Amino acid sequence: MDISICWLRRDLRLADHAALYHALKSGYPVLPLFIFDQNILNKLDNKKDARLTFIHQTLKTLREELQQYGSSLLVKLGSPEKVWPELIKTYQVKAVYANHDYEPYAIKRDDGLAEYLRSEEIPFYTYKDQVIFEQAEVVKADGKPYTVFTPYYKQWLQKLNAFYVKAYPTERYFKNLFQSPALPFPTLQDIGFEETNDQFPSTNFEAKLDQYHADRDYPAKDATTHLGLHLRFGTVSIRAAVRAAQTQKANKWLSELAWREFYMMILWHFPHIIDRAFKPAYDNIEWRNNETEFAAWCEGKTGYPLVDAGMRQLNKTGFMHNRVRMVVASFLCKHLLIDWRWGEAYFAEKLLDYEQASNVGGWQWACGSGNDAAPYFRVFNPELQLQKFDPKLAYVFKWAPEYQSALAPVPIVEHTFARDRVLKAFKKALT
Ligand code: FAD
Repeated sequence: MDISICWLRRDLRLADHAALYHALKSGYPVLPLFIFDQNILNKLDNKKDARLTFIHQTLKTLREELQQYGSSLLVKLGSPEKVWPELIKTYQVKAVYANHDYEPYAIKRDDGLAEYLRSEEIPFYTYKDQVIFEQAEVVKADGKPYTVFTPYYKQWLQKLNAFYVKAYPTERYFKNLFQSPALPFPTLQDIGFEETNDQFPSTNFEAKLDQYHADRDYPAKDATTHLGLHLRFGTVSIRAAVRAAQTQKANKWLSELAWREFYMMILWHFPHIIDRAFKPAYDNIEWRNNETEFAAWCEGKTGYPLVDAGMRQLNKTGFMHNRVRMVVASFLCKHLLIDWRWGEAYFAEKLLDYEQASNVGGWQWACGSGNDAAPYFRVFNPELQLQKFDPKLAYVFKWAPEYQSALAPVPIVEHTFARDRVLKAFKKALT
């Protein structure tokens, strides 16, 4: 039977889904597909990675939903370049649908698939879905990308209208799903991973929006939405998030959603930033890269309460509050003079909401090497940050309770000494 395939990647939902909507209207029955990509899985050393549990649980729910419409979910394990030729042999595939993906690996993967499908004379249709504005949709008058957020956001807001946030009504066309008995569904063990018992954040983010502008900077209040994970895997549509921000007039929160797109746009235009500084001179910094100090940072044993609490929160839950992310990142690059790429890799391993564009962007911002970063001589003082944002130490005591006792660890480096040291090192590299 002739079919279309809709390849789900980081858009794990059926509602308001650009590629699925277009596939369902294509005239061929649509079989949704997910591939556990071995190119990605092989790089994950931790076989109890909570993100795999999240993906697996989400796929299970999706499959149940699809079964209600007489369809199912095709789940494969392997590298896409090997899986696709097998699929083309097994099914009469007339067209393939997917949503755009902007990370360097994903672009290469999709270019490879496009070439292969062309050789098989199968059309490959792709759509914008994970952002409101992608690639070069919001650029300067001369067509060059913005590298500073404020003017980018101004234009982003100007362009935003009802058309861009309208939901794709996929549900109207579910009758066009490929009718199939339940297809085999691998266990996590089948793909080489183990289940974790993490509690994942809820998708009910709207309740947090009213107080967001006032409370978002205080980690003890836990006033942010924790939506990052859902935006990462597409379990919540970005259009739904923006519509909620508009309805509730949550302007500050809306700007955070735009920061996400800003970093995605930057990564798309400047893919080299995944492992090189946006500002090249920063690649000349002579990092100290002391492994013992790096281990102390990872474990949350630096003797700086806010840094330690943040790292413990990350290690225990896969989440860290944004203000604290800024403090721990600055501390690693500046106080310890450890390469931002070490910290970026550690976050990539631990964060449930890990997003390459935002993570690289956040790290390069903290280090000073990024496109819209603070000048290098501005060094966060972790003690002042603590006084300002966690004055009663409620967040610190929650995650690093030893600071309540006389056993509180001593700082691994003294602030003024560290500040002078980093200023000298950065000045040497940059001038
Ligand atoms: P909320 O504050 O409720 O915001 C809603 C959504 O807006 C977030 O889920 C996220 O998608 C987006 N957002 C918010 N702030 C930012 C920001 N500064 N930059 C980009 N997007 C933003 N965010 C990630 O999604 N993945 C990462 O891997 C990541 N790594 C970071 C690393 C560093 C060093 C720093 C300083 C920041 C990083 N951020 C990252 C940005 C930010 O810290 C998180 O998006 C935010 O803390 C997630 O919490 P939340 O979902 O409750 O967000």
